[in-house]
Amino acid sequence: MNELLRKPATEQAKALKNKEISAVELTQAALKRIKEIDEKLGAFNSLTEETALETAKKVDEKIARGEELPLLAGIPLALKDNMNLVGSKTTASSKILENFVSPFNATISQKLLDNLVPILGKANLDEFAMGSSNENSAFKKVHNPWDLNKVPGGSSGGSAASVASCEVTLSLGSDTGGSIRLPASFCGIVGMKPTYGRVSRYGLIAFASSLDQIGPFARTVEDAANLLEVISGHDPKDSTSLNLPVEHYASSLNNDIKGLRVGVIKELMSEGLSEDVQKAVENAIECYKKLGAEIVEISLPNLKHSIGIYYILATAECSSNLARFDGVRYGYRTPDAKNLLEMYTKTRAEGFGPEVKRRIMLGTYALSSGYYDAYYKKAQQMRALVTQDFVEAFKKADVLISPTCPNTAFELGAKSNDPLAMYLTDIATISANLAGIPGLSVPAGFDRDGMPIGLQILAPQLQEAKLFNAAHKFERVNDYYTKLANI
Ligand code: GLN
Repeated sequence: MNELLRKPATEQAKALKNKEISAVELTQAALKRIKEIDEKLGAFNSLTEETALETAKKVDEKIARGEELPLLAGIPLALKDNMNLVGSKTTASSKILENFVSPFNATISQKLLDNLVPILGKANLDEFAMGSSNENSAFKKVHNPWDLNKVPGGSSGGSAASVASCEVTLSLGSDTGGSIRLPASFCGIVGMKPTYGRVSRYGLIAFASSLDQIGPFARTVEDAANLLEVISGHDPKDSTSLNLPVEHYASSLNNDIKGLRVGVIKELMSEGLSEDVQKAVENAIECYKKLGAEIVEISLPNLKHSIGIYYILATAECSSNLARFDGVRYGYRTPDAKNLLEMYTKTRAEGFGPEVKRRIMLGTYALSSGYYDAYYKKAQQMRALVTQDFVEAFKKADVLISPTCPNTAFELGAKSNDPLAMYLTDIATISANLAGIPGLSVPAGFDRDGMPIGLQILAPQLQEAKLFNAAHKFERVNDYYTKLANI
């Protein structure tokens, strides 16, 4: 493999600028790596070689003309396969969209193309982004590059595994309840969920619209910060996108964090935490003390309800969002229906996988008349309490830390038959989606089996710069980010 593929985007960009390698060569090297190892990994649903090479060529032409390159130009990237890219299959890892070819670009895709970032392919995920292990893909499982018998985390498992194994340098994922942060932590890389509304979701296949956000994966905090800068901003095509200026996050990365109040979330440091994860977070606390931060204990009393709230709201929203997949306009249609109703029901019965069906049924139930007040309305009220917990917490702390997950990556199949155990994997991440605040996972060590551990850092809404700064400082006093999976 070309050694440059192991380097962060910041260094790859320098090599391109100094003409040590051309963008076409770098893209080809990454495509070669994917072809060599992806059979073992399962991170890609499809490759978009032509688009990638076309973009890389434009980068080389710009370099030849001596022109300034846009941020991240020429850096190999993967898109989660629930994001539209013209001419590419966009399947959401579902049988119902198996042959769906995007007729338009998602806003994030357009922004990447405008910045001349080569998009190499579409990364595998849990069907419609529902899952925590990437075992719910209708096509194939993704394997963890640190141990192929273990899960990479989900639902953006392919996006995380492809970056962790140096198939690509950057990728995008979507995070509704933890789907960027959890796989980042299981795969030993950085994964970041921005403030709700920071990034346009136009062209992202919707799961739960009041929770979904698109965000970056990278092997360093600086790369993640730069990728967020490229994709964020207001978009008239997404009315939930915030009309606020885009920040240059990288310029805040070296701010002193002396006196920064780092809150440790009490509820996530006790019950059910693996010993090795606990130790890693305690080490992180020591690191922050040495960096001059002030450590405070924070309680989020309603955090324990977050999974219950999420599984009412997210399923209610998905039951409505997924109603559009009916065999009429998109993708799969059953070949043998006798009438229209049978066409609808058979198409959906044959096209959706078991977890998606479970969610649609749960959500339809929660929204049905007679149960709406007891479930949906109650969950909305409880969501306000979780949000309020954060408002109180951020009066006492500037950022909050916790493990990203109480455990490290588990064996493939270990939780497949136990949806509740699977849902509990997200205990530390879901509340940030309910409150709409930004959060990230940064590598924080390894367990006794050599599996990566992630530290989650959360910040108040729109304080991405502070969040990246706190993560970058932690990253640079450790060497975890330099350690790569041996695949
Ligand atoms: N694991 C959670 C779920 O299954 C979150 C998924 C996500 O963030 N997309 O719904």
